[in-house]
Amino acid sequence: MPMPRLNLPNDSIVADYEAGKSAREIARRVGCSCMAIIRRLNEAGVETHSRNPITRFWSHVNKHGPVPTHQPQLGHCWVWTGAIYKSGYGLFSLVSGSTTRAHRFANFLAHGPVPKGLLVCHHCDNRICVRDSHLFRGTQKQNMADAISKSRLAVGERNGNSRFTRANVMKMREAFANGEPMCSLQKRFTIDRTQLAKILRGKLWPHAAGPIVASVCRAKTLISVESKSKRRTA
Ligand SMILES: [Zn+2]
Repeated sequence: MPMPRLNLPNDSIVADYEAGKSAREIARRVGCSCMAIIRRLNEAGVETHSRNPITRFWSHVNKHGPVPTHQPQLGHCWVWTGAIYKSGYGLFSLVSGSTTRAHRFANFLAHGPVPKGLLVCHHCDNRICVRDSHLFRGTQKQNMADAISKSRLAVGERNGNSRFTRANVMKMREAFANGEPMCSLQKRFTIDRTQLAKILRGKLWPHAAGPIVASVCRAKTLISVESKSKRRTA
C-alpha cells in the first residue's frame, strides 16, 4: 500500500523533532515513511541523526551500565540500547543499509578499521558493551583462550547443554575399543553418528578418559574384518 502524502507543515515536524521525538516516532504518528520525515527536516535545515552515524551511534549508548563483577577495575560497561542481534550483540545500521555489531563499530571509531580475520572481543564478557577500554582485538584463538582463562565456557558436563557425563563418555570409548559397533552405541546412548564419532575421536570431551581412536572408519573396518575372519574360521 503506498504511503499517504505528507500534508504536514515543516514547522510542526521540526517542533516535534526538537522536542525529542525521533523521526520514526513522528513518521508513525503522521502515517508516512521515516525517510519522508528526515527529508522534510533536512529541507528545514535540521541535521538529523541519520545524517551523522557517529551522533546516531552514541545516542544509543548508556554509559552507566553494570560494573563487571569479575573485573571491577574496568569500571562501568557502556551498554548498547539500540537493536540487538539474536546472538546478543548490539546491532548498528550503517548509512549504506548494512548492519554491523555495535561493539565493532565502537572499536572502529576508536582505532580505525578492524583488520580482516580479527575479532573485537570483550574483557567484560558483556556482549552489549561498547566501551572501548572493555574491548580488545584478537584472533578466534585468543578469544577462546581469554574465555577459558575466565572460565566463561563451561567444560564438558558443567556445560548445561551437555547430555552426557564423563562416565558415559568413558563407557562409549571403552565399548567401541572392545568392538561394539557404532550403530549399537548410537542406540544405547541415543546419540547421532557425527556426535558419537567426535567423542570417540576426542574432538568432543577431549579431557574425559577412555581410549581415543584416530578414525572411527578405520577402526570399524578393522572390527568388521576381524569379525568376518572370526566368522570364516568358526
Ligand atoms: Zn563492558
